[in-house]
Amino acid sequence: MVATETDPPTTDRQSAASEGDAGGGRYAAEWRLFVDWCATTGHTGLPGDTATVHAFLVACPAAPATQRRRLTAIDHHHRAAGHPPPSRHDAIRDLVRGRPARPVRRPLDPAAVDTALRRLPASGWTRGWFGRRDRLLLVLAAADIPYRHLAQLTGADITISRGAATITTPAGDVQLAATEQAWVCPACAVTAWMDLLYLEATRGTRQVAQVLHDADPLYFGAPHNCFSPRPPDWTGDGVPLLPPIDQHGWTPLDRPAGLSRQSISRLARQAAAGDDQPHRDIPPPVSGQRPIEFTDDVLAPTLTYDIQQWQHGIHQRHAAREQLAHLGDALDDMDTRIAELEARTKQLLEQGRRV
Ligand SMILES: [Zn+2]
Repeated sequence: MVATETDPPTTDRQSAASEGDAGGGRYAAEWRLFVDWCATTGHTGLPGDTATVHAFLVACPAAPATQRRRLTAIDHHHRAAGHPPPSRHDAIRDLVRGRPARPVRRPLDPAAVDTALRRLPASGWTRGWFGRRDRLLLVLAAADIPYRHLAQLTGADITISRGAATITTPAGDVQLAATEQAWVCPACAVTAWMDLLYLEATRGTRQVAQVLHDADPLYFGAPHNCFSPRPPDWTGDGVPLLPPIDQHGWTPLDRPAGLSRQSISRLARQAAAGDDQPHRDIPPPVSGQRPIEFTDDVLAPTLTYDIQQWQHGIHQRHAAREQLAHLGDALDDMDTRIAELEARTKQLLEQGRRV
């Protein structure tokens, strides 16, 4: 066992020490090999992504020292061209060190994401509720935010300013700016979902259902939702940004955990591939409240965005859940008692038959 294979600082020092040579003489052969491999396999070498570099190393096996020289050359040429070095990834380090390979996340195809955003529904109950969540999930996955980070995001990690949304992730801030068409606009995917999440937290699922039932489908030339004025800090803490939704549209916002990393990954890939599960369009549940009015086709609600209301709504959800937890215990006790009584009745009947 060579010490440097399991010792990242030594590897980094070696890389740094030899970078001066990477562009010209010493590592020119390594860079040329990578460029040739990309050209013959149809990959883009500059900028190349992590998956491309990983595939290159797998396709051209070599001793760890050789693989490290190749990575030094690839990173050097990326830095020189103003691109981030693509080899800084656990999977690539594992490969070079001879550890079992972990799967590398392939970036979603931008054209497939675009097509999915035109197709995913934004109206109808429960269809639009799932659709709007999955539109957000898709644009976040397309922005290359790791799925494990997406699973941890809460409403408070979103900051919205006119025409842009900022997502604060453990790896840093990610900006999603408005694009020309509203129905494929990533910033609109964020704001349209945040509006609904706010409505869900403060007014409840019945209002969300009514709003989605009344909303028009998205269409080419629809107005942007992401330019509607909102205070910068109105989003509530403690709400999972991507919560699970059940078949009736109910959403457990009172639980701290949202969708799992695996579910987010699966939903994003299914949506991009066009084989996501269709959801129903059914009448919304009856509500005694006055319906919320919306000023345009993309849900720019005439709501007063208020962090206090958001927090209050979530607090109420938590309180209700605690109360229901006691009810759950009582129901469990009742189930046990009924089972006991049934067993006793059966016993008595059998005794009666024998007599
Ligand atoms: Zn927009």
